[in-house]
Amino acid sequence: PFILGIETSCDETAAAVVSRGGTREPVVLSNIVYSQIEDHAAYGGVVPEIAARAHAEALGGIVSAALSEAGLGMDDLSAVAATAGPGLIGGLIVGASMARAIAHARDLPFLAINHLEGHALTPRLTHGLAFPYLLLLVSGGHTQIVLVKALGRYERWGTTIDDALGEAFDKTAKLLDLGHPGGPQVERTAIGGDAKRFQLPRPMRGEARLDFSFSGLKTAVRQTAEKAAPLSPGDVRDLCASFQAACADTLADRMARAFARFRAEFPDIAAPVAAIAGGVAANRTIRTALESVADEAGFSIAAPPLALCTDNGAMIAYAGLERYEAGLRDGLDTPVRSRWPLDETAAPLVGHGR
Ligand code: ATP
Ligand code: MG
Ligand code: FE
Repeated sequence: PFILGIETSCDETAAAVVSRGGTREPVVLSNIVYSQIEDHAAYGGVVPEIAARAHAEALGGIVSAALSEAGLGMDDLSAVAATAGPGLIGGLIVGASMARAIAHARDLPFLAINHLEGHALTPRLTHGLAFPYLLLLVSGGHTQIVLVKALGRYERWGTTIDDALGEAFDKTAKLLDLGHPGGPQVERTAIGGDAKRFQLPRPMRGEARLDFSFSGLKTAVRQTAEKAAPLSPGDVRDLCASFQAACADTLADRMARAFARFRAEFPDIAAPVAAIAGGVAANRTIRTALESVADEAGFSIAAPPLALCTDNGAMIAYAGLERYEAGLRDGLDTPVRSRWPLDETAAPLVGHGR
């Protein structure tokens, strides 16, 4: 089957075609992403109205490019998948409307995909992971630990009670005048910095529940910056390094607990895996910290290539492929939802998906 996937939930306009080859391996035939970062740069964050307009302008061309790069026409498609939530409603409407229109015109099945399911299933596309496995999703909008049990069966074990981790990076960068998006800037600035110079909190460390909190850390960074002002380039470097270390320690602590819980629930799984997704997963300091706690717990880390960790069309097309193969279909009247918890995603009726 050939599945077209469309992603427009935030600030990437993306389309891709994914198929499953003769060997049963999934294949990404094309994966086109137009990042709107430039469109929003002047505002220091994503502006929903600008995002929706930019999606509407770009999407037609992106879909054509995805089809032509895959060497396919619309008549070759087996189904059309689009992100139907969670995300910014204007963008979701643009993407889902395009997908519904193609499905209607060519009489193809339509699949309404939960964006988080796209992230959750990506390690099956890139690493062929078998269920169940853990997922750590750390992006600009989400910070979650999810148990991926089977297609359509996800348990959220932890989430942030305030800011997302990517948001904390972005706000720290803004405070220190490093530009947007902040994550890569903070990481670059932190190189060679003294991560022990500033004492910053490790929110939630040691707590039994698997949640996160980053607003206290953000406040501590601001107060530290105010106290040390005016900041020399060396101060900024050390503060970025200290902030990054606090984030890495916090994630490591939370994941150590998640590993223990997974072990207790699935004692028979000999080689457990935790996958990472989201833009923050690109961070070297964070990756190193995660690899070391995983190692201690006997887990391996599956890290998809960055282009498939951040928002993209292939993850939506792939989730569509799994759903299509499981016989799931969505009506053309399926609404988009700005809020759509992953554990409210439809699952196949009987034991599908091993
Ligand atoms: P969503 O949560 O809907 O997926 P998003 O578009 O914000 O939305 P991504 O595109 O996956 O998510 O990731 C963007 C985020 O990742 C931004 O907050 C950015 O600052 C952060 N980020 C990117 N690179 C790095 C890095 N090297 N270190 C830390 N954070 C990073
Ligand atoms: Mg993004
Ligand atoms: Fe995302």
